[in-house]
Amino acid sequence: MSIEASATFTVMEPETLRRMFAGELGHDQDFFIYSRHFNPTVLNLSRQLAALEGTEAAYCTSSGMSAISAVLLQLVSNGGHVVAANSLYGGTHALLTHFLPRVSNITTTFVDIMDLEQVKDAIIEGKTSVLYFETMSNPNLKVANIPELSRLGHEKGVTVVVDNTFAPMVVSPARLGADVVVHSVSKFISGGADIIAGAVCGPASLLNSMMGLHNGTLMILGPTMNAKVAFELSERIPHLSIRMKEHSNRALAYATRLEKLGVKVIYPGLKSHPQHELLKSIANDGYGFGGLLGIDMETEENANRFMSYLQNYAQFGFMAVSLGYYETLLSCSGSSTSSELNEEEKKQAGISPGLIRVSVGFVGTLEQKLAQLEKALARFFETGFSLKN
Ligand SMILES: *Cc1c(COP(=O)(O)O)cnc(C)c1O
Repeated sequence: MSIEASATFTVMEPETLRRMFAGELGHDQDFFIYSRHFNPTVLNLSRQLAALEGTEAAYCTSSGMSAISAVLLQLVSNGGHVVAANSLYGGTHALLTHFLPRVSNITTTFVDIMDLEQVKDAIIEGKTSVLYFETMSNPNLKVANIPELSRLGHEKGVTVVVDNTFAPMVVSPARLGADVVVHSVSKFISGGADIIAGAVCGPASLLNSMMGLHNGTLMILGPTMNAKVAFELSERIPHLSIRMKEHSNRALAYATRLEKLGVKVIYPGLKSHPQHELLKSIANDGYGFGGLLGIDMETEENANRFMSYLQNYAQFGFMAVSLGYYETLLSCSGSSTSSELNEEEKKQAGISPGLIRVSVGFVGTLEQKLAQLEKALARFFETGFSLKN
């Protein structure tokens, strides 16, 4: 594969330029205009992601947030309405709560997507255009019933958009009925914690409209991915499956051990998780239950102390936001990535103040890592801390 780093593209005949702008010649026939529009290298990566998610088309963007905002602004017009999960990535929650109402009078009703009746009631036929949720909610890992939610959405005539950042390969929302899948490629798909990128996977008609010269959010707002970045990411897709399997293996091992030690863990791979059976029924075979787990330390003080021991005493992982890295990353969601939510919203979303989100890495041996985890926990209790339940 080569890198097509050109910002612009030459033609042999003046007539060709006119035909490209008229839409008669396009990227599907290998005609390119300018790299804020389709670029061959970005298109190559995009085709890999469309194949990954089983959608007709895809296109990559400069960040996950730009992919999400571009999709919503394309699908929802001024004054429109969205129904969304009440437990979402903080940036998406802020986009729906503050940004879209201010700039475009687009309003959102937040619902508990576990309650299908509530979702149904919130959708206003003729006004609501998008039902938006995450495969596994951030940070409490509730698993969405994608087949049922898609069926319900389609019955009501809305477009179902799913953020699958937490579970690439593990779950394929489009194969379960969703219309559009969005990704923060910065996370598991990149795997290196060194690139910010996003993707929109969906019908060709949507992607083409997003690239429209007059009204397309990708073309007009311009959240363009650099071709050199697209090349780098393309080289990481072939080993995404191996990485996801190991993220999942490790996460299940840590979750099982912590549960045995009497710590409250949230992991959809455990029988104790309320959507364990659901996830088993919708997940792709062989990729496990995902690379994220939650440890509920009950209070923020407990969480902070345990994270500090995990990093500075036992070398189990690093305190940092983000996820999908080969090293383990730890963050206290309530005071970091979900701090955009107010106290009431956090309560509604079921985010405990002591919840540590763990993005499980795979470096080091499993035995060594389990020993480090236990060492940090022992220290937590030795230094006078305790858990009520
Ligand atoms: C990180 C993240 C985003 C935002 O992606 P960026 O690449 O940081 O812009 C959106 N959704 C989820 C679930 C995320 O984890």
